[in-house]
Amino acid sequence: MTESISQNYASARDMRAKLDSGNTTARELALNHLQRIQETEKHTNAFLTVLDEEQLVTQADAADALIESGNASALTGIPILIKDNISTDGIRTTAASKILDGYTPPFDATVVSRLKDAGAIILGKGNLDEFAMGSSNENSAFGPVINPWGQNRVPGGSSGGAAAAVAAGEATIALGSDTGGSIRQPASLCGVVGFKPTYGTVSRYGLIAFGSSLDQIGPIARTVADCADTANTISGRDPHDSTSLDLEIDFAEYLDRGVDGMRIGVPREYLVEGIEPGVRSAFEASLGVLEGLGAKIEETSLPLTDHALAVYYIIAPSEASANLARFDGVKYGMSVDGEPNARESIEATRGIGFGAEVKRRILIGTYALSAGYYDAYYKKAQQVRTLIRREFQDAFQEFDALATPTSPTVAFELGEKTQDPFQMYLSDVCTIPVNIAGLPGISVSCGLSDGLPVGLQIIAPQLGDRVALQVAHAYEQSANWKLTPPEL
Ligand code: GLN
Repeated sequence: MTESISQNYASARDMRAKLDSGNTTARELALNHLQRIQETEKHTNAFLTVLDEEQLVTQADAADALIESGNASALTGIPILIKDNISTDGIRTTAASKILDGYTPPFDATVVSRLKDAGAIILGKGNLDEFAMGSSNENSAFGPVINPWGQNRVPGGSSGGAAAAVAAGEATIALGSDTGGSIRQPASLCGVVGFKPTYGTVSRYGLIAFGSSLDQIGPIARTVADCADTANTISGRDPHDSTSLDLEIDFAEYLDRGVDGMRIGVPREYLVEGIEPGVRSAFEASLGVLEGLGAKIEETSLPLTDHALAVYYIIAPSEASANLARFDGVKYGMSVDGEPNARESIEATRGIGFGAEVKRRILIGTYALSAGYYDAYYKKAQQVRTLIRREFQDAFQEFDALATPTSPTVAFELGEKTQDPFQMYLSDVCTIPVNIAGLPGISVSCGLSDGLPVGLQIIAPQLGDRVALQVAHAYEQSANWKLTPPEL
């Protein structure tokens, strides 16, 4: 690996140290990343928009000035990718949908303005499944992302571009969104770290809404500490998002506390049928590492887990069907002209603008919310959601955290699951319950199976984000995998 590429694989904290000691500059980092992107994109297709050299240098010079003045914070000068369902002022934002082609937001999402205030370098926008609906990034209107770990493998989804870019050394950190696993599952499949904070800790203002009661923005990075630092930068109360919580949490506070004496539960329902043997053995080995660090590992049971997927596939499409009603060809993006009246123009725009999976979700959601079926589906799903939340609360009376695999499989082949939506939905069985209950969850690499990364998921109680990061950090430091994909 050449020196400049290995520099691109450094953690943000290591880059921070080099920036502070004058061993590199934000300008050098930004330009190295631009070069890496230019060389690597033909393999990964992780970016939908890359900022040009002038835009990067302007940001980098401002970051270098901030460092010079002694006012740098954790992310000053650090190159970051933003998933393309997060609004960026003056930079096109597509949600990987044809219907938003040509749309440029006139404002920044709160998370983006917080990154900018911190002097982070925005490299560009990350590919995803259309409107964040999918688990393989194959639902993007701009072509799939390829996992840097294998040229015929998916990166996971929906934040596939975010995870692949971090894994391939194209970005140091990426912001993703997680409605049912879209940060953690691609992080797992690409061998990087993905953190979904407690619902409400990070503002959703400017995130193109999918399932508003489930959506949460969070970081994908190379280390747990970088995830904690990013969460510190983007979190906090935002008057533009009424669900954002008025709390000051230092996400990095518990990182070095270790796990000695902690009680960690392993719910047996997560070792589901269909879990690959290589995933199971990497996961079991990771439990051994935590045990070696002094944690008490105990099997437990969360029987309602089996219903989480069904609940999700009522609630998420229901909320999506309402949220996506705003895309009518009038207010945003593309519009089909020449129809005789407004109704037909809206139908034509939505007919052409939305892809098959998005249409499937809108149909399911509209059906579940319709007058005769609301009680049978949506209301029932909300009731079961409450029970799932309570079941987790009970488990956390006994355990500090829960450990599960992040995904039942390693990265699968392109096209392997596209014909069978149910198989695709099963990719998220281990991640979806966390969103249903609004909990924090993190995926950290726990080795390889057949040469492809496996993820360990740590789940903590609501607002126990620091505990999830603490366990993941202790594991990461001890296992010390430092996975880098074969050179592209
Ligand atoms: N894969 C899940 C879905 O398709 C989750 C997506 C997400 O978290 N945005 O809905």
